[in-house]
Amino acid sequence: MNTKEYIQKLGAELREHNYNYYVLDNPTISDYDFDIKLKELQALEEKYPEFQDANSPTLRVGGAVTKNFKTVVHEHRMYSLDNSYSLEDLQDWETRIKKMVDGEIQYTCELKYDGASISLTYENGNLLRAVTRGDGMQGDEVTANIKTIKSVPLQLKGDYPPKFDIRGEIVLPFDGFNKMNEERLDIGEEPYRNPRNTASGSLKLQDSAEVAKRPLECLLYNITGNNLGIATQMESLAKARQMGFKVPEAAKLASSIDEVLEFVNYWDVERHNLPYETDGVVVKVNSLFQQEELGYTAKAPRWAMAYKFKAEQVSTRLNSISYQVGRTGAITPVANLEPVELAGTTVKRASLHNSDQIEKLDVRVGDEVFVEKGGEIIPKIIAVDLSSRPENSEPTKYITHCPECNTLLERLEGEAKHFCPNFNGCNPQIIGRIQHYISRKAMDIEGLGGETVALLVNAGLISNYSDLYTLTKEQLMPLERMAEKSAENLINGVEASKQIPFESVLFALGIRYVGETVAKKLAKHYKSIDAIAKATQEELVNVDEIGVKIAESVILFFASEANRATIEKLKQFGVQLEVSAEKLANQTNKLENKIFVVSGVFETVSRTELKKLIEDNGGKVSSSISAKTSFVIAGDKMGPSKKEKAEKLGVALISEQEFLQMIT
Ligand code: AMP
Ligand code: ZN
Repeated sequence: MNTKEYIQKLGAELREHNYNYYVLDNPTISDYDFDIKLKELQALEEKYPEFQDANSPTLRVGGAVTKNFKTVVHEHRMYSLDNSYSLEDLQDWETRIKKMVDGEIQYTCELKYDGASISLTYENGNLLRAVTRGDGMQGDEVTANIKTIKSVPLQLKGDYPPKFDIRGEIVLPFDGFNKMNEERLDIGEEPYRNPRNTASGSLKLQDSAEVAKRPLECLLYNITGNNLGIATQMESLAKARQMGFKVPEAAKLASSIDEVLEFVNYWDVERHNLPYETDGVVVKVNSLFQQEELGYTAKAPRWAMAYKFKAEQVSTRLNSISYQVGRTGAITPVANLEPVELAGTTVKRASLHNSDQIEKLDVRVGDEVFVEKGGEIIPKIIAVDLSSRPENSEPTKYITHCPECNTLLERLEGEAKHFCPNFNGCNPQIIGRIQHYISRKAMDIEGLGGETVALLVNAGLISNYSDLYTLTKEQLMPLERMAEKSAENLINGVEASKQIPFESVLFALGIRYVGETVAKKLAKHYKSIDAIAKATQEELVNVDEIGVKIAESVILFFASEANRATIEKLKQFGVQLEVSAEKLANQTNKLENKIFVVSGVFETVSRTELKKLIEDNGGKVSSSISAKTSFVIAGDKMGPSKKEKAEKLGVALISEQEFLQMIT
């Protein structure tokens, strides 16, 4: 086999693995082996760029940057859908269309995925172009971004028409969405509001490598084109599956509107068990011939109808609005409601997001408001019942001063939120920063919890995290609920945190945008806090994965005299502000690209040590077993369900000894 053929073979193999993993959810190779093959292909393509396929699996990692998205006119218009909300609506629709076509009508019922619509064009089996819906007539070309979504085939399988468009929805499953939000919170950023907006925002990111990091999926529902050799919508879905697209299996054929309603009622409940958001059912006339006869209105096909699930909604009274101050000083208005049952839980509060939102809703204390629970975790107010508004009601005046420290609030250009600039004198900001400092992923201080931090700050014992190291038993004992034992535990916990490695300390400092991963990168590159403090913005931006926003934030942090003084104190107390010499000496790349899960109890090393060894040798530690896991290090008393999962996914179980051999 010559090099060109070998590159092709490797590409085909990787494509098949991507398909098994992302479309069928059934991987047949470990992630580690996959990565090795991908790396091999990357290296070959670099050496022989003339043999690189335009749709090579190596393009999945992204890298292409689009400054301005090109506008593309859709060859077949992307219509919207008419909505229905009841059995009567559906029956009316049936009556209308029965007058326009001959013969029996069958319907396909599909779920209505709630994401961003996309149109993909394939030519000779290759993905040519991906375009957003835009206004339906024309959209933005986002091909480079779409190529990073692993369930979108870059090259088709089996028999395919020479040229066609296929339509689908880009969704962000809940799991991935929640994970992204956890990371946002870690760096002091506002969480994303819901999966749909996040999915559609992702399509328009300029850097495709950023898109590649987001766990987006593409679910397909319609093939359009000429001479496709398909007679029905059901066949169209089956055909799409055969060509390698991800088409959910829920779709069903119904021979009457009653059967359609059965489908709707089933999924109205069952949808809560789906991994992604749906907001209804789409009913389509199954025969493409009948579809053609029915045609389109100015806005939507006559042959399709969306049936919207009722969002779970209640009305209740708005008792008051309070304002929370976050660790970064951002103000969030919160609606305090008359408690009410909604989707199985008692709701007492709802988010109001910011002053614009309050103005937009014109929501006022005393109003009856409609509350809804959608994909968001926190319920939201969607409207006010104006008919029951008290006559003497006054528009809500947004606060001008911090509710905690009375400082005049600021609002930066381009930001939706007001914030309190009294960084070092505003209690919730002080408390929030210290709580972040002691948290598990940061300094992991045992014997000290978030509430105690608030207690200590309010008692005037500490006002920044460096003060933790000055606490004495005598100071702590008089505090409420502080027994001698807990005081000792707290002091021991603080003492032990002096051993926490530099990269975690850097994360603990709470520099905006410096999350766990960024902290690791910076620590690895600069090796000490002094070097980071001295770095210029240009230098910072040159570090792998450090963007302008992060660089600016780092510069801003060290520009503050108060911050520099705090760091100086931490240094004097013996907190690790540089990578230890021992660590430098022990670091290798032996475990690069390998992901480990540590489970059970071990004989010679502790779990924490094991994790450290993994990371020092370039590996990654993950908390749960997935197909991405390379090895599970199994200790004594490992849970049977974990074992089963590892076996099912074909992840290798290794002993502590076997692991230690890997790094010696
Ligand atoms: P709307 O935006 O409410 O007018 O609804 C139309 C949109 O529903 C389309 O643009 C699609 O993006 C989306 N949609 C989601 N699932 C489906 C499906 N199974 N069939 C057709 N359209 C769907
Ligand atoms: Zn304040």
